Order: sequence, then C-alpha cells, then structure tokens
Amino acid sequence: MTKFALSSSALLLAFSIAGPAASQGQAISYKDQPKLHDIATAPSAENLRNDVQTLVDFGTRHTLSETESDTQGIGAARRWIFEEFERISAACGGCLEVYYSTGVIAGEARIPDATEVVSVVAIQRGKTDPERYVLMAGDIDSRATDVMDSTSAAPGANDNASGVAGTMEAARVLSQYEFHGSIVYAALSGEEQGLFGGQILAEQALEEGWRLHAVLNNDMIGNIAGINGVIDNTTARVFAEGTRQNETAADARMRRFTGGEVDSPSRNLGRYISWMADRYIPNLDVMVIYRLDRFGRGGHHRPFNDVGYPGVRIMETNEHYDRQHQDLRNENGRHFGDTIEYVDFDYAAKLTALNAVTLASMAWAPAPPSEVSIRGAVQPDTTLSWAPASEQEQDMIAGYRIYWRYTDAPNWQFSRDVGNVTEFTLENVVIDNYFFGVSSVSKDGFESPVVFPGAAGTFDLR
Ligand SMILES: [Zn+2]
Repeated sequence: MTKFALSSSALLLAFSIAGPAASQGQAISYKDQPKLHDIATAPSAENLRNDVQTLVDFGTRHTLSETESDTQGIGAARRWIFEEFERISAACGGCLEVYYSTGVIAGEARIPDATEVVSVVAIQRGKTDPERYVLMAGDIDSRATDVMDSTSAAPGANDNASGVAGTMEAARVLSQYEFHGSIVYAALSGEEQGLFGGQILAEQALEEGWRLHAVLNNDMIGNIAGINGVIDNTTARVFAEGTRQNETAADARMRRFTGGEVDSPSRNLGRYISWMADRYIPNLDVMVIYRLDRFGRGGHHRPFNDVGYPGVRIMETNEHYDRQHQDLRNENGRHFGDTIEYVDFDYAAKLTALNAVTLASMAWAPAPPSEVSIRGAVQPDTTLSWAPASEQEQDMIAGYRIYWRYTDAPNWQFSRDVGNVTEFTLENVVIDNYFFGVSSVSKDGFESPVVFPGAAGTFDLR
C-alpha cells in the first residue's frame, strides 16, 4: 500500500521514501518499462465477460460432474479451455504447448470414488532460459451448497470462472511477446474437493525439476461489492505465507538466529506484485497479507508452497459470501448464488493486468539470485554474496541491486546498484539493524524479486 512519488521526466525513476535515511541509504531506483505499461492496459473486460459466460453456461463444473456431454459439466468445460488455449496458440504461430495435467484421486473425503482430476496447462516457452518458470492459475471447478452435489446448477462465475478467464486473457496478451523465461497458464481442477489439481501439477513440476519462481493463484478476482456493504474497485489482496512450509529443523534453527520469518520467497513475491501495482496499474493498491490464505480457508497456491515453490493468492478485497458455494435461490428477496451479474469485469481486467505485468516483468528479468548469503557479525560493515548468473543469462545481466530496510518495516526502503559482481560490502551499515536482500537486473532494466539470504529466502528448490 506504499505510496511512491514518481518523477516521470527522468528515465531512471527515483522513488522517494519517507522516514529516516539509513547510512548510504539511497532511495530505491527503478527503470520504468514502456512495454509493461502496454501490457497493463491490454486485458479486455469484454473478453473476460465472454469467457466467464461460456464457463457459466456449462451448468456445473463440479469435479465429479458429467464428462461425456459437449455442453454440460466439467468435461465439456475443460475441453473448451483446451481448445481456447489452442486458438490463442494458433494466433501466435504455435507459441503455446497445451496439455492436460491429469491424475486419479480416490479414497478422499470429497472424492471417495476413483476420479480423473484433469487440469489444462499451456506453456509459453522462454527463449533464453526455458526451464525457468512463472505460473498464473485459476480454477475450473465450481460447487453448490453441498460440496458433494455434482448435478445442481453451480455457475461459479466469480469462484472461479473469473480466475480461469483472467488466466486465458493474460495468455492472449502475453503471447504477443517473447520472454527469456517460460510462462505457464493453468486452469486447475479439483480445487473445491481438496486442492487436487494443484497438487498433481506441483508434483509434476517437481518431478520434471521446474525452476518455478512464482505461482500466482487467482481465486475470485471479480467481486467489488462486499457483504459488508463496501464497494471498492481500487484495492486487491495478495496472501503470502511466512516461513516456508518445507523448512527443515536445521533451517528453522538458523532462521532463529539470523531472521527470515517475514521474508519467505512468497512474501518477497508479494512485495514485488505490490510494486508492480504501484508502478503500472493506475488506481490499484495491493494489500500484501502476511498469511497463507484467508483465515482457515484454502486455495491452489498451497500445494505449490507445500513442496517449496514460491506462490501467492491474488484476489478481490471485499468478498460476498451469499455468492460463494451457494445453491441458486431467492430467500425473501435475498439472492444466493455465484451468478455472472455480480462480476465486475473492469475490475477483473485490472487484476488480470496486475498478473500480466508481474509475469512479464519476471520472465524478462534474469532469474532471482541463487545462493544468497550474508555476513557481518561483530563488524561495522555488512557483506552479501551470491552465485554467478547461469551461463545462458551471463549476456543479459547488467548487475545486482542490494536492498535493505528497518526490521519492522514491511517494504524494502533502501537500495544500491552494485554492478555485475557476486559479492559486495555495504560499509557502515550494521547487519543487526536491518534486513537485507538482493535482486538481479537485466541490461534493459528488468528486475527479479528481492531474495532474502539463506534457506529462509531462496527462490530455488530446497
Ligand atoms: Zn470456492
């Protein structure tokens, strides 16, 4: 929610930060990217409306619903999504690899009998580093009041046709460009039955050794009128877990002495998304929320977090519970059910744009630095070091940017460009008093998220 003062005249924009300056504390520097402004204005509310309408018209997309029909149920829905990704691919000269990610689930509380859980995945392969990934997802499946009811109407317009439509629209926009890293667009299934589609895809990614640096799980991105009476189309929420789920006991012991509780890669991904909103999306403030998800509730970024991948949930700020997981009905003039007339498509387009600029920025930037470490105990200076860029990225790297902030500040406050080196000492910056991180910056100014040192902060698999 930080407000930055922008000077648009300078090519290198300087953000002025309120508060006391740290020793050598330069304001955060950043190169404005015209291509990201183009991407930010490209998502079409009309495309989103058409796609949500198509998804709603399948009647129900319950994970256990009809799969043979061409017009009703989840089988028809996933085949249409597959075909739509193929059409988007045809329009970019075959730039998408489209496939079904499948697994058989049985013996679960919400999937008792063997059921094929089928997600639709499209990969836009990167040109420089194709084995590095960022991923945007929404959920195909919908539900009525009874989570096991696979036949009643369950339009799921906002929950979560909006997320699938946003993902398809981001693919339409971004497929007009070429990137260094790969971008994955995923329509996941089995969410309401226990996050199974995400679990299946996360396990596949792990088996294939994907270097997956961001999972943007979009789950409900179109409601602006909350049950609390608030109507607001200018904010969004990004939920990001704290300490990583697959932290070992040894990692936790180290973190106790050196910090990192609030600097998991998911958190620094959340801060990156918030910067993207401030820089490229007019009239949108991102609230980064320091929790895995809404209180006691779940979403499809979690199975990716479970195996160690950075990931967040992106969604509306004001939910309306009468329009989630409800049988369609009217009770004394009160509407229940997730129908399309309550989806705000201009707002859904704005959140789609937030995803698209984040995916593009990361896929154009170098990979986040690896093996970041820090030292400086009992010294006046702080030294950070990191691994050299991979061979395929040597030519695109301009250098690295070190960040620091006061330990009780939510956002990075100070930065310093340190050139194309793998170690740098900040003189007279005492390690005890700040948190530190480092990002990588390309020759054309695209920047990775900030990486906190050690196991707590790495974007790489552990
Ligand atoms: Zn739901």
